[in-house]
Amino acid sequence: MSYLSIKEELAQHQVELVAVSKTKPIEAIQAIYDQGQRDFGENKVQEMEAKYQLLPKDIRWHLIGHLQKNKVKYIAPFVHLIHSVDSLELLFEINKQALKNNRVLDVLLQIHIASEESKFGLDKTELIEILDINESKNTGLQNIRIRGLMGMATFSDDEELIRKEFNGLKDLFTFVQQSYFLSDQSFSLLSMGMSSDYRLAIEAGSNMVRIGSLLFGNRTT
Ligand SMILES: *Cc1c(COP(=O)(O)O)cnc(C)c1O
Repeated sequence: MSYLSIKEELAQHQVELVAVSKTKPIEAIQAIYDQGQRDFGENKVQEMEAKYQLLPKDIRWHLIGHLQKNKVKYIAPFVHLIHSVDSLELLFEINKQALKNNRVLDVLLQIHIASEESKFGLDKTELIEILDINESKNTGLQNIRIRGLMGMATFSDDEELIRKEFNGLKDLFTFVQQSYFLSDQSFSLLSMGMSSDYRLAIEAGSNMVRIGSLLFGNRTT
């Protein structure tokens, strides 16, 4: 699908597009940038850092893959949104590196919604533990801002299963918004949906999709 037709479809639903450019060369990213796209997603720290150096500085870089604590320092100076916070320890490290860079870093908490074991993410108990700690004033998490939730559905062609998982995440999002962020509009992002399932995600209430292969073509690596 062309960039502009995807953009138009998403605009009708007021859904933000993160163009997932992992494994794609600079020229391919520049071509989409030239059509107006500014939000790009990468899943590896080193690759994102290298591309950040080479591409226009007004790109908003989204880290969408699993993040190791010892690598936060490399992206803290420039990352726009980290979608994949899956532990309290990681959140504290992001806060520490944000402080060092004199920034407040926006993050999403990644929730495990798929039936596969392999996908990263928090369960509801772990999520609530993090939210309780974030809410108490003296824990020192002044340099991070929890902007919403992220999740990945099972890789499957069972639409009912995918729908169920996305609806579950949307319900959890609403619960968190009402229980923790009633007076804080900044908790507003629900990042769910990829090339194969973004329409189901939007139907379930997503407002940010992460689309790679549909935009850039299939990845060979
Ligand atoms: C690769 C990736 C995507 C995009 O996948 P496509 O199927 O190419 O659209 C979205 N989210 C995450 C976390 C990814 O790693």
